[in-house]
Amino acid sequence: MDAMLQDLFDDVVERNAGEDEFHQAVREVFDSLALVVRRHPEYAEASIIRRICEPERQIIFRVPWVDDAGEVRINRGFRVEFNSALGPFKGGLRFHPSVYLGIVKFLGFEQTFKNALTGLPIGGGKGGSDFDPKGCSDGEVMRFCQSFMTELYRHIGEYTDVPAGDTGVGGREIGYLFGQYKRITNRYESGVLTGKGLGWGGSQVRTEATGYGLAFFVQEMLTADGASFDGTRVVVSGSGNVAIHAIEKVHQLGGTVVACSDSSGYVVDEQGIDLALLREVKEVERGRIADYAERRDGAELGRDGSIWDVSCDVALPCATQNELDADAATRLAKAGCRVVAEGANMPTTPEAVDLLQEAGVRYGPGKAANAGGVATSALEMQQNASRASWTFEETEERLERIMRDIHSLCLTTADEYDLPGNYADGANIAGFTQVADAMLALGVV
Ligand code: GLU
Repeated sequence: MDAMLQDLFDDVVERNAGEDEFHQAVREVFDSLALVVRRHPEYAEASIIRRICEPERQIIFRVPWVDDAGEVRINRGFRVEFNSALGPFKGGLRFHPSVYLGIVKFLGFEQTFKNALTGLPIGGGKGGSDFDPKGCSDGEVMRFCQSFMTELYRHIGEYTDVPAGDTGVGGREIGYLFGQYKRITNRYESGVLTGKGLGWGGSQVRTEATGYGLAFFVQEMLTADGASFDGTRVVVSGSGNVAIHAIEKVHQLGGTVVACSDSSGYVVDEQGIDLALLREVKEVERGRIADYAERRDGAELGRDGSIWDVSCDVALPCATQNELDADAATRLAKAGCRVVAEGANMPTTPEAVDLLQEAGVRYGPGKAANAGGVATSALEMQQNASRASWTFEETEERLERIMRDIHSLCLTTADEYDLPGNYADGANIAGFTQVADAMLALGVV
């Protein structure tokens, strides 16, 4: 790494001790910036890089709630408002026991550049809680969400900070959060949250957007290589919202998804994943992937290794951070995988990214490949602001165009810096310069 960047990185590590995921996210961006700082000394002069690593505001709060047994439970809530140079802070809320400040900061940092890549006027932020919705009743989830919003409401607003969903936060949670915000503020402020239901201010395609966007992005990657989805074998890790909609769109585009997973294991289904059954098991019954294998003729539950042992042309990690490590990358490349694109945030470890790129596997980083979700959130904000609602077709067409534009922005930026075909550098540089230029224009704030 460039000496100045290394100093800045050491400083980030020292100032944010113990936050490994945040260090990793910063390092990945810094690895792409050496040429940028050489070409743009004005960024260093205004301490843009140091400023970009420091969130504008970090909020940590107590979330007390009462469970069904009448016991008082305490969780920790977070909102990290990372950067508002391009628009109001924007990014999801994650409810998962692994959530702590380092996770929220890594996600907020990534979100800042991802949101810039969409070309839409949204800054970056992220939030969440170490609350585990698994096994909770609807009433418990509602009471938790109400308590969470009772603190959060004072920090957010359609022009200030606009949360949405992420792992553990879907339509049900957004409903409870929006209801409590409306009650406390006495305002029907639709643009304060995205991922709302279609009947109360939500946008068509928002639910599908991250997974569909990922498939559109991969289609562009394949086309750039003179290929297409036709006849490709695809492996998708995860079986949550992103994975399910990625599978759906890959099938529509002519590929066959032969494996998916959850935290309990993976399933191989050579006929192609039966989406109706997967949705029944995961979305309706909130069950395990083993239930899918049991009910589907010919499907097998993976017993050894991991989902990355299933040979494929295209691998789409859509579960969680650091799920695809160096070993997995080596096995994927050896088995002939040609494209890896991230539906989750930072699912591929830095060593794995290097190995994939050295082996000639095309690597689409999450910042670019999974930006369809937040892009459609920005379209939801646009509709809320004009009190309009667009059709499914119109919204999907816009999403597809945005993904195509992000894809070409990555490649043209990589070309400008003599890094042809490097999507990771292209995404980091394009996202960074967009935010950095706005920060320069807005002065030292
Ligand atoms: N959590 C999603 C992401 O990682 C979406 C955020 C949003 O829609 O604001 O990009």
